[in-house]
Amino acid sequence: MEKIVSLSKRRGFIFQSAEIYGGFRSTYDYGPLGILMLRNVRNAWWRAMVQTRRDVVGLEASILSTPKIWEASGHLANFTDPLVDCRNCKERWREDQIGGVCPKCGSTDLTEARAFNMMFKTFVGPVEDDASVAYLRPETAQGMFVNFKAVQQALRLKPPFGIAQIGKSFRNEITPGNFVFRTREFEQMEMEFFVPPLEAQGWFEYWYKERYAWYLGLGIPESMIRLRHHEAEELSHYSAGTVDVEFDFPWGWGELEGIANRTDFDLNAHATGSGEKLDYFDQATGERYTPYVIEPAAGATRAMMAFLIAAYDEDVVADEKRLLLRLHPRLAPYSVAILPLSKKPELSEVADRVFRIVAECYSTDYDDTQAIGRRYRRQDEIGTPLCVTVDFETLTDQAVTIRDRDTTEQVRVPISELMPSLSAKLGF
Ligand code: ATP
Repeated sequence: MEKIVSLSKRRGFIFQSAEIYGGFRSTYDYGPLGILMLRNVRNAWWRAMVQTRRDVVGLEASILSTPKIWEASGHLANFTDPLVDCRNCKERWREDQIGGVCPKCGSTDLTEARAFNMMFKTFVGPVEDDASVAYLRPETAQGMFVNFKAVQQALRLKPPFGIAQIGKSFRNEITPGNFVFRTREFEQMEMEFFVPPLEAQGWFEYWYKERYAWYLGLGIPESMIRLRHHEAEELSHYSAGTVDVEFDFPWGWGELEGIANRTDFDLNAHATGSGEKLDYFDQATGERYTPYVIEPAAGATRAMMAFLIAAYDEDVVADEKRLLLRLHPRLAPYSVAILPLSKKPELSEVADRVFRIVAECYSTDYDDTQAIGRRYRRQDEIGTPLCVTVDFETLTDQAVTIRDRDTTEQVRVPISELMPSLSAKLGF
């Protein structure tokens, strides 16, 4: 874990926010490499969940919204964690996480638990009174429910269909921590899949298998990931079935994503709250029904951390220890790095031309400082799958060398064939 945190800082993935002021309560800033990778996580999700499917469309709902949404959804009443204080050291904890013992001082003298609402409250407009209260969304899902009818009608969709959204959510967590695993501001990737009630169980099973396969397909080894079915007592009141995708974090198994059969709870709740009909009329059968919802709800920032942990590796190349991120090519911040052997103008000129060709299609780094071995190591450390070396021979043979991160193998290809070669090696 410390290695991931230190690499993240050293190489510009994730910084503690406001570090020059001593940091600010478990908030983090994503640096140049971090935003490239986070964007890749989002894109990989969007590609799997929206782009390559004919039955899912996208949405971007507002973060601020009327409290009526949170009243209808049950968040105002129920989105709480049980808060306890340690009478000895005054630290505050989530009761369900500590098993009756203060993790800081070991005391068992704790207060009674009280329900602490995790939504961030703010005021809209210049007057800070009850009428102007608003909340930052604690999940993106409600945006899909309240827009269900608008989206369904605008695109003339027929269940089964899904609405997907990626965006920031905010929770006033009592005990954030473990780096970006639990923060108060984080990013979610959620999809609400609306289905005829009788098809709900089948789609539920379909989606948790799909979601599990998504992580495997992006390089998480089978030994580090599992599906965990919730027991009946653990289920949320609205859920007819929940499965978590869990990852083996350095401190133990933790949730990456939850897939739930939310029944017709959400649409009914908003139909009651708003007075609008949120159902579907099937003209073919003459049947009117409220769709059930299958929800795969993932965290983008949490997933990014899991991908980093799974990719971290140390091996030995040419008798030298090397640190590398074996990131899937779709997730690596840079797909390719262009490395001219020297800074001589005649090489820079060709290397720059190669950079411009490659950067048109791929996220590309350019590095002409220090010895070539050092530069390979630097790229290995940030997970760049392919390095392209421009050397003095390039000037005569118009060819470059492609070096593979994982095998360190090198092949020479003509510049005219570079793009198809890169594409074949990257797989996209
Ligand atoms: P937990 O039990 O860890 O608090 P949850 O079950 O409340 O999570 P959901 O409401 O199902 O989480 O949210 C879906 C996903 O959003 C989670 O699986 C996780 O990846 C992400 N997520 C939730 N809370 C946070 C947080 N505070 N920081 C980072 N990611 C989060």
